Amino acid sequence: MSQLIRKEGKARWVYRCDLCAVTLTAVDRLRILEARNRHVRGNLPHLGKALAEAMEPVVEFVNGIALAAESFGKLLFDPPKNLPHDPILLKDRRKWGGR
Ligand SMILES: [Zn+2]
Repeated sequence: MSQLIRKEGKARWVYRCDLCAVTLTAVDRLRILEARNRHVRGNLPHLGKALAEAMEPVVEFVNGIALAAESFGKLLFDPPKNLPHDPILLKDRRKWGGR
């Protein structure tokens, strides 16, 4: 959570938005909640940052899927080389390449 409200002392409530590097203070909990709402609502830079942060796990997830699909595609479309497992057969160049 990059936003938090805490009480730092008597009549000193602090709201900090790490996304925007903004710190707001108020004298009681209700006022700090209002201050937070004012900061969050209709604040496009803040909204953009909050959205980007919320999307991070999704982006990682999609990247993971793309990676998995890539290796799976390699399995599907790169056929294994048709070579014998027996090394003696591999040395038989008449059959496995060369002349
Ligand atoms: Zn913010």
